[in-house]
Amino acid sequence: MQKIKNEKVLLLENINQKAVDMLKKAGFKNIELLPSAIPEEELMKKIEDVAILGVRSRTWLKKDLFKKAKNLKAIGCFIVGVNKVDLEEAEKTGIPVFHGPFSSTRSVAELTIAFTLSLFRKIHEKNLGAHAGQWLKKVDGQEIREKTIGIIGFSNIGSQVGLMAEALGMNVVFYDVANVLPLGNAKRKSTIKGVLKEADVITLHVPSLPSTQGMINDETISQMKDGALLINTSRGDIVDDKAVCKALKSGKLGGFATDVYIKEPKSPTEELKTPYAKYPNALLTPHIGGSTAEAQTGIAKEVANKLIDFITTGKTADAINFPKIMLPPHQNTSRFLHIHKNSPGILAKINSVFEKQGINIASQFLNTSKNIGYVVTDIESGKTEKILKELKAIPQTIKCYFLS
Ligand code: NAD
Repeated sequence: MQKIKNEKVLLLENINQKAVDMLKKAGFKNIELLPSAIPEEELMKKIEDVAILGVRSRTWLKKDLFKKAKNLKAIGCFIVGVNKVDLEEAEKTGIPVFHGPFSSTRSVAELTIAFTLSLFRKIHEKNLGAHAGQWLKKVDGQEIREKTIGIIGFSNIGSQVGLMAEALGMNVVFYDVANVLPLGNAKRKSTIKGVLKEADVITLHVPSLPSTQGMINDETISQMKDGALLINTSRGDIVDDKAVCKALKSGKLGGFATDVYIKEPKSPTEELKTPYAKYPNALLTPHIGGSTAEAQTGIAKEVANKLIDFITTGKTADAINFPKIMLPPHQNTSRFLHIHKNSPGILAKINSVFEKQGINIASQFLNTSKNIGYVVTDIESGKTEKILKELKAIPQTIKCYFLS
């Protein structure tokens, strides 16, 4: 995008240095990297001249912010979940939002395998005991070989758990509402009950949706084997905590490992309050699924690449809130990006700007959503400043850019 080196990039919440290096290499010189989130009022002031904003999980980007963000071109969420961003408002103001859904998946899958091994061998219980000076040596562990792992949600994370579990000698059964590929020797079950009644350990890899919240409850626990083990690395609200506590107490569940909670502390200084804490057969970690060096550099690369692609080519194929356009890099042509309110006749108005100048369009790409339209036009030559001015003057224009 024009004058990229003067564009302000604001990266909050200690985003990995790799992203800074990549943005610098792409031409951005004015990058501010802050070690934490900042108060809402401060962000409202700062946002006015920011072109690229990077956040992680602690920053809310609400409707009011977009009214102030006059210069904002794109947002990078250096995490998987984007529930703190008003995605529709971002779209309506012409701002694509990018995130990193893939980079932490291996780390979460590995944590799930670590949980599986610990639950079968009661490592967490022995560890608690040893710290208290107890010598809990008895034959109460089991090998995971030839046990059955039941995976609910068999996509990015669930399928990797399946492959690793299989490599460790486990049988794999899964349930997914979508028609996903049964990788390896995993056996698909047509109902969740089919998984619950067969599995020795059940692991959850579904998003938090009205249809998944509370999916592990008194009824579904009653369908599990006696002494079954349960793992949750997805979201706290997918399990009914009262039902799980009851089952841990009665022994219906032999163990439970969770990385996620219905209410999670907002900072390391806040206390974790969870009903699971009083059960020694509950293995509790503080939402560390993606907290590995590899996941963090991976996310930095994944999201920075998407931001750079948009800024240099206009590509929105990876945006989560925007009409998707996959674009080849433009060579020997000039490229205009036009984002407008979705109403009939805009394409004709855009093309009449080029026609009036006697300019031949080399290629054009268009996609729309309910709210907006996005048109990318490549031309061989022409008076770019004049064209840009006229494109911006189209009344339905939200944003318009010229890429050299
Ligand atoms: P994904 O979107 O790739 O896969 C989710 C799968 O769940 C999809 O295949 C979908 O069809 C399936 N699904 C949806 N509703 C279902 C239902 N009712 N029953 C069965 N299957 C259903 O997600 P992913 O990348 O594998 O991540 C899974 C979850 O892990 C995420 O939603 C996120 O909440 C969580 N996560 C946690 C951490 C962590 O730090 N602990 C890190 C990353 C992701």
